[in-house]
Amino acid sequence: MFKTYKRLLGFVSPMSRYAVPYFFYALFYALFNTCTYAMILPIMNTLFDVKNAYVFEPVFSMPPLSEISLTNISPMLNYVYTNTFGTEFLMSNMLILLAVVTLIMNLMSNLFRYLSAMTVERMRVCSLQRMRNDLFNKVMEMNPGYFSEQRKGDLMSRITQDVMVVQYSITNTLQVIFRDPLLIIGYVVYMLMVSWQLSLFAILFLPVVAVLIGSIVKRLRHPALKGQERMGDMVSILDESLSGIKVIKSYNATNYIRRKFMEFNAQFSRLMLSMAKRQQLASPMSEALGLTAVSVLIVFGGSLVMSGSLTAGGFVGFIAVFSQITRPVRSFIDQFANVNQGIAAGERIFEVLDSQPEIQDKPDAKVLDGLHDKIEFRDVHFSYDSTKEVINGISFDIKRGQTVALVGPSGGGKSTLSELIPRFYDPTSGDILIDGVSIKEYTQDSLRAHMSIVAQDTILFNDSIENNIAMGRQGATHEEIMQAARVANAHDFIMECPAGYETNIGDRGAKLSGGQRQRLSIARAVLKNPEILILDEATSALDTESEKLVQEALNSLLEGRTSIVIAHRLSTIHNADKIIVIDKGKIAEQGTHAELMARNGIYAKLIEMQSFD
Ligand code: ADP
Repeated sequence: MFKTYKRLLGFVSPMSRYAVPYFFYALFYALFNTCTYAMILPIMNTLFDVKNAYVFEPVFSMPPLSEISLTNISPMLNYVYTNTFGTEFLMSNMLILLAVVTLIMNLMSNLFRYLSAMTVERMRVCSLQRMRNDLFNKVMEMNPGYFSEQRKGDLMSRITQDVMVVQYSITNTLQVIFRDPLLIIGYVVYMLMVSWQLSLFAILFLPVVAVLIGSIVKRLRHPALKGQERMGDMVSILDESLSGIKVIKSYNATNYIRRKFMEFNAQFSRLMLSMAKRQQLASPMSEALGLTAVSVLIVFGGSLVMSGSLTAGGFVGFIAVFSQITRPVRSFIDQFANVNQGIAAGERIFEVLDSQPEIQDKPDAKVLDGLHDKIEFRDVHFSYDSTKEVINGISFDIKRGQTVALVGPSGGGKSTLSELIPRFYDPTSGDILIDGVSIKEYTQDSLRAHMSIVAQDTILFNDSIENNIAMGRQGATHEEIMQAARVANAHDFIMECPAGYETNIGDRGAKLSGGQRQRLSIARAVLKNPEILILDEATSALDTESEKLVQEALNSLLEGRTSIVIAHRLSTIHNADKIIVIDKGKIAEQGTHAELMARNGIYAKLIEMQSFD
């Protein structure tokens, strides 16, 4: 636990840059804050002093140093006052003067409070930024196999929610270490100066009150967490309902979903009510407790005043400071609870930061310089969950410059097979070789540098058209990008967009049609100009015009490249050098279109039904 905490603090670096100024700000804050409340004492003494209407005694010469002590600095101060303002003025304006001094003290205390708070904020913002960056970088390092649907949500919540929780833990550290204790010390010192008997009494009594108040606050937090969970449930129902509104309507299922929502809503409300009950109770209860404490003090302190061992002003000042001291004590207790929560969230964050990508480059990995002869699948087996074999012993090869079409029923393993080539996953047994060398011998970066993947679901980013294409090759010139767009049949429609190549395409390319999106992702691949192309043809139907443009673009892309195509279009299949029919993780048939038709097997049947899914 302490280790996690230390690692969390590691995000704040250098610590001294924040801690040192914070210490001084906190010190001055505590000092001026105590002084502000301490000012009540001279004010009260001025008011209550029956013999003289003021306590001010003019002092015209510097008092001997021996007369001045920490508890009695008034001769010194009076000397300064006398010389600055003159006796006359002081005598008639004593109260105003005291009020002004109080005000100045208070302003100073608030100034330092602000400075210390800003130091903490700066520290928090910087460390959070660093934490999020680290998390994101780590996530980007992971292999695609790491991201199941469930994991994705979990990661998102870690990067957003947990980081937020952790921030309290880090921020509050400084407060726990410096501010609150300094404030408590300041108050206690003042109280001791006024009356040690009363202070002793209060110090013994105070922890009892603090613990009582603390336990009330703690009991509040528990349902608050549950409330967040319920809120989360409700948000997910809302999300489901809104995104599935067409399905819900078409099945006339609004009542079902309404009932579900109402149920969660009622649960949430009940929880909120019980929480509110406790919350509303907490404030009066802690106030009552606080007041009880003060009353007890009044009885005890009052008797001290009557017996003459304490001045009335001193007593009022004491009560004022005492009523303030519960604040830092309570916040001190609270912070510890927060730190605990932060550590729990921190552990979830470090779990992500400490995870290692399953697929890593060998220490002596080579750089792949290109494909010269062939890609070879040698008895490849693969399973996602080590129980069910998705690829079950597949061997074939692709000569340089050839196009191989993978066809077969849905779920047969075609996509999986194609994802083994860029090493998104490694085969469980068997091997994939490029020019006779296992792809595991190469660095992943160099391997992927020679291939492009054009997937069914075109992945575009919320950015300009130009930048979306440029992703294919960093540092490409505008001319090269335009050339790639021309090859991909995208140039014309791009020029019709409001800002041409600078047009923003919206989230995931929402502002474009399906065919346009596909042509952009083809342009991206053209720009990269890879030797090896992995293409997953889209199944969704496009209108004839769009279809023709996409098909042309694909043909240009395939030209002269070594390609593996998960084929859905008859024309692609016809043009392929080799067709491999994959069914249940095995090669069912292979050959050219004519050969396979002659066999009259699965392929012939698929052609007949026109289904190449
Ligand atoms: P095809 O591309 O031929 O339709 P896939 O390669 O997509 O087939 O899927 C083959 C099998 O692997 C299917 O049974 C599918 O459910 C399973 N599968 C695909 N992706 C994953 C995954 N990420 N995790 C677990 N199983 C998967």
